[in-house]
Amino acid sequence: MTKCVFCHGEDIREQTVNEELQLNSDIVYAPVSCLVCQTCGERYFDRPTVRHLEKLRAELRSGQVPLKQVGKVLMIESSSMVTARV
Ligand SMILES: [Zn+2]
Repeated sequence: MTKCVFCHGEDIREQTVNEELQLNSDIVYAPVSCLVCQTCGERYFDRPTVRHLEKLRAELRSGQVPLKQVGKVLMIESSSMVTARV
């Protein structure tokens, strides 16, 4: 690939990224190597990687993957939610 299909940027590099997989109300980070557009951040997965992620999703649902906790997901309480004004 020479150009990003979204922003037409030409700076695309192989990088290790943490792909986010949803597991119930949790997020599981799966480190994978893929091409990343350095301009807009779009990730390009090749076929084996897509298959690997699909397999991981299925294994996660059946609880076959050992996981470690690396952080918490926090949410701002609705009482302090700010309504955007146009
Ligand atoms: Zn791009």
